[in-house]
Amino acid sequence: MVVLRRRTQAPKPHPVATDDDSGSDYEDTCCEICGSGDIPSKILLCDYCDKGFHLFCLKPILVSVPKSSWLCPPCSRHRQPKDFPLIQTTILDFFRIQRSPTLPQNLTQESLKKRKRSCSLVVSKKRRKLLPFNPSEDPERRLKQMQSLATALIASGAKFSDELTYRPGLATRSANCAALEKEGMQVLSKEDAETLNVCKNMMKRGEWPPLTVILDPDEGFTVQADRFIKDLTIVTEYVGVVDYLKNRENDDGDSMMTLLCADDPLDSLVICPYEHANIARFISGINNHTPEGKRKQNLKCVRYDVNGECRVLLIANKDIRKGERLYYDYNGYEHEYPTEHFV
Ligand SMILES: [Zn+2]
Ligand SMILES: [Zn+2]
Repeated sequence: MVVLRRRTQAPKPHPVATDDDSGSDYEDTCCEICGSGDIPSKILLCDYCDKGFHLFCLKPILVSVPKSSWLCPPCSRHRQPKDFPLIQTTILDFFRIQRSPTLPQNLTQESLKKRKRSCSLVVSKKRRKLLPFNPSEDPERRLKQMQSLATALIASGAKFSDELTYRPGLATRSANCAALEKEGMQVLSKEDAETLNVCKNMMKRGEWPPLTVILDPDEGFTVQADRFIKDLTIVTEYVGVVDYLKNRENDDGDSMMTLLCADDPLDSLVICPYEHANIARFISGINNHTPEGKRKQNLKCVRYDVNGECRVLLIANKDIRKGERLYYDYNGYEHEYPTEHFV
């Protein structure tokens, strides 16, 4: 266990007294928020002012020590992330949106219309089908939503990707085998898989889920609905770089997601949304130790077998009003994630 770990050795922007780096100067650091020096292994030092903060006293809490440099809330307040330029071509390039001569145009509603028709024929006794997200109609609005995500991704040092990423040296795509799941994995029905495809193709055309990333002073980056979202809508897939859990057990990251929970723990996989990510990375978790926390939840996180591969989807589990923040339970399966300090 690391005690009062200093994460970076970057030179300080302001003069510091002799720093022999023995670590002993930090032994009696107290947390600036609760005033106590208890559990020193959970006290994080600001890279600018050197003051201490318990990981769990911070809002949003940090689950582990960040990989990169870290600024405490007072220090980071002076460093708001720079807004991504609201320029259509720049935004489309950032997200590698397929160029068509008239983008952004009015939505290609064809597929949605078709779905609507078939949906109306479904009798309520039948299994409930997933719905594709419904992008905002106004192209300007959509551009703003994309701008907010680009701002958040750049501030977090991540590149955009809407698919799971496989990297040489890490888990290969063939390692993502849903059949290895300990107690078997729910297979996404053919119909729902088609809906997922509709969503993916809309994304490629720049027709995005109606979501905005906002920077909340307490919660950090968080996501809110920019339009009514109906219960059972596929909001986004959870993506990032796929790696073996065994390689990440001491990882700094605070938002790893289980992808495969295999019989043999050596086969278990996680998604790491650090270098490559989409909007899922910025959606907040509920505090699942309190009833208020549970009431806030409006998304569920579900792992599915899609053509033999594991995929993680975030799906609305109730109707979501415009302006409502999105929350899901980080502990959907494993109940390992320490959420008791979440706001
Ligand atoms: Zn504290
Ligand atoms: Zn500071």
